[in-house]
Amino acid sequence: KQANGTIKIAIQKIGRLSEGSLELLKNMGLQFETYKDRLFTSCRNLPIDILFLRDDDIPEYVQDGVADLGIVGSNVLDERETSIQRLLPLDFGYCSLNIAVLEQSMLLSVNDLKGKRIATSYPIALARYLTEKKIKAEIVLLRGSVEIAPALKVADAICDLVSTGSTLRTNRLKVIEKVSRSQAILIGQNDPPEQKKQLIERLLLRARGVQEARKYKYVMFNLPKDALEKITKLVPGCKSPTVIPLNDPRFVAIHSV
Ligand code: ATP
Ligand code: ZN
Repeated sequence: KQANGTIKIAIQKIGRLSEGSLELLKNMGLQFETYKDRLFTSCRNLPIDILFLRDDDIPEYVQDGVADLGIVGSNVLDERETSIQRLLPLDFGYCSLNIAVLEQSMLLSVNDLKGKRIATSYPIALARYLTEKKIKAEIVLLRGSVEIAPALKVADAICDLVSTGSTLRTNRLKVIEKVSRSQAILIGQNDPPEQKKQLIERLLLRARGVQEARKYKYVMFNLPKDALEKITKLVPGCKSPTVIPLNDPRFVAIHSV
């Protein structure tokens, strides 16, 4: 399969990015079925395979050329030295990496973190931030359930991803600093194989098209013909709508983006 031009796209198998990733691929016109527990699926209408992986593994797969394209949170990329290309921010999977402490904590800002222990799964981004702020603190690396570290006295603060903040509230934590922002991003190889370049370009074009299209709506409505002038002034972006005569000569149909 490697020798032919089949493109492999890696997306998260189960998690916060799965739904948005599948929706994007479908909107790009890829036709495929997803089955539970399947590790990959082939598109019916294009020479494309979709691989379902853990999000953390996707950058390596793309770097090694096992996958040609991938969708990951930019926070995952910030944590590693992989030489891959960030092709397109995808406008979903928004979250931010924040430093939080227990609600009753006396630690109020990054300056209070000198000599403290901060638990995180994102040591690189945190270390970079602390260096920038000239704060020397101890980073406690945890792979999961970072939010319980302060209550267990494993750490004085945590540095973790937050979107709505509900996990923080549940664990009686409050945010004191924002370290970085993240969203889903389409990634690719720095130097994709020659025979795949054309299809990759086409897919990128379609992904951009989906992004663009989300900003617009196609509106259709019928109205009395004598209200036409008034309505075209009212509907934004309705500079020159398509006006279609209807069977009843008193009415027209308006189509506009
Ligand atoms: P996997 O089993 O694939 O490793 P995971 O637990 O690492 O799953 P998720 O929690 O599903 O992954 O998060 C995947 C990505 O979703 C994150 O890397 C981040 O970019 C994004 N994300 C959006 N909102 C949040 C949030 N509130 N908490 C964590 N990640 C979020
Ligand atoms: Zn993960």
